Amino acid sequence: MHCRLHRFPLTKAVPLAISRGTTAAVEHLLIAIEHEGITGFGETGGFDSGHRSFSTDAVADELCALAPRLADRSPEPLQALEPLLAALSPPARCGLDLALHDWWGKRLGQPLGRLWGLDSAVSAPTSVTLGLGSVEAVLARLERWWAQLPATRIKLKLGSPDGLEHDRALVDAVATALQRRRAATGIATELQVDANGGWDLERARAMLGLLAERGVVLVEQPLPPQADPDADCAGFAALDLDCPMALVADESCWDLQDLLRLAPHVDGVNIKLLKSGGLAEALLMARTARRLGLAVMFGCYSDAALLNGAAAQLLPLVDWPDLDSHLNLVDDPFAGPVLEGDRLLPGRGPGLGVAVEGLAC
Ligand SMILES: [Mg+2]
Repeated sequence: MHCRLHRFPLTKAVPLAISRGTTAAVEHLLIAIEHEGITGFGETGGFDSGHRSFSTDAVADELCALAPRLADRSPEPLQALEPLLAALSPPARCGLDLALHDWWGKRLGQPLGRLWGLDSAVSAPTSVTLGLGSVEAVLARLERWWAQLPATRIKLKLGSPDGLEHDRALVDAVATALQRRRAATGIATELQVDANGGWDLERARAMLGLLAERGVVLVEQPLPPQADPDADCAGFAALDLDCPMALVADESCWDLQDLLRLAPHVDGVNIKLLKSGGLAEALLMARTARRLGLAVMFGCYSDAALLNGAAAQLLPLVDWPDLDSHLNLVDDPFAGPVLEGDRLLPGRGPGLGVAVEGLAC
């Protein structure tokens, strides 16, 4: 197969601030593999989870070094490429995994979800994200989302560098806005919070009561992820029994191995394609989580519609979709996943169901 790499910018309509910093724009990579007249596309890019980070430059270097080794290989069977994929970093593996799956689906003329036996009509509403900021700015962001889509699930970022008082003020203001909306329109809106590892144990415990009082249904990654797996599990275990709402691991949970070690201590996991290294591992994780009785969230970084369209192929397995990043881009070069109300559905078409529109390939 012939492999090409393109770099492209992604610019957010509204910059997103979380506990670790603010993102206004990123650079991502498009990987295209061509074989026997069929081209499969994958998207990837650098990201930072607090304890592990990858730069887009490093991911591009990895994929460029790999390209000559793909020249005499075929995209199928996928299993024959597993050793080569296993040696890559998660984001480099994700780019290639997506391109290989896209090629495979196009070769068979079917969307991936259909090849996996999934019901593409099943999709829960996606949450939309409110980043950190002043109370006024966060409420203005909420109104902007409501002007764009029904947004019946809100994910509020907490772990503010300004401290717990600011976190409390944000929860109060947003919960009150949701109550007002319900009183005025009858529309119930679910509130989720994500601390992105911005609390310690004491702060997390101090927040749980207020979160429960204000009807928050889940709290994501209260404590920073730890490189030591036992220490990481211990943090979730210390909160699990006291936590009145669903406790969800994100930055701590990258792959199936993480999921299995965290399973006794959490209620759900946030799976992201850049962390899992693509669709093969994400499918395994989603199916295993469900079998273990865990709820499944599917999340994103600053991803465009190719990554989120790939994730949309697995939405029938997802309880809490959180795939809103492409809805906040001004220069997304891809088209595919369909928004119906606030439910995301996979794009029509074979493979990932995503078209590359804004890039010369
Ligand atoms: Mg998260």
